[in-house]
Amino acid sequence: MGDDCTGKIVVIIGPSGTGKSTLIQRVKEQFPQLIESISYTTRPRRPSETDGVHYFFISKTEFEEMIEAGEFLEWAKVHDDYKGTGKGFVQKKLEEGKYLLFDLDVQGADSIKEAFPEKAEAIFIAPPSLEELEKRLKNRGTESEKSLEIRLSNSKKEILRKDDYDYCIINDELERAYTELEATVRSILDS
Ligand code: ADP
Ligand code: 5GP
Repeated sequence: MGDDCTGKIVVIIGPSGTGKSTLIQRVKEQFPQLIESISYTTRPRRPSETDGVHYFFISKTEFEEMIEAGEFLEWAKVHDDYKGTGKGFVQKKLEEGKYLLFDLDVQGADSIKEAFPEKAEAIFIAPPSLEELEKRLKNRGTESEKSLEIRLSNSKKEILRKDDYDYCIINDELERAYTELEATVRSILDS
């Protein structure tokens, strides 16, 4: 699978709790032509999540079998759990000339940019500060103390990469950030 088919890819990156899911939900409503790639993960499902909608939730053994079988376009260990993008779905949609939306960590974004240098545009969503990030993650109430600690520690490293991608948007005030994101996605899709 390469860069020779017609579709486009928008990759959203950013530390856990920065507001990616909140913003992506609005992007999907505004741009129904963008199809979100559903990742596979070994992370436990949150009560608010549905299997096959937010992720395909699978066991570690199943994930490792998929790695062995070469079924991932990219995969990474993120915050101690496996996360990965299945090849088949992405290939089919790109061949159909569709526009795809990915929510990935920095490792996944780097892999997708490498696989599709002409097609993929990556947008880093940064928090206004680490203090605000911690507040948002705690308020979301989805993480155990250990998971919170891992996510905040990884965030510090991820934020160092914020200027390495095509765009960086600070999610300070939600409406302002969404307006900037909407304009950015529109310009990518129109290009
Ligand atoms: P991510 O998908 O990046 O992990 P979420 O979209 O789940 O982040 O957002 C984390 C928490 O922060 C949620 O409770 C969400 O409602 C809240 N949030 C998102 N954007 C903002 C913002 N601009 N200001 C304040 N809170 C926000
Ligand atoms: P969460 O556990 O909060 O849903 O996601 C944690 C991190 O995993 C986020 O940075 C998200 O972008 C990333 N992620 C989700 N799916 C994938 C995937 O398929 N591949 C990679 N590399 N990262 C992913």
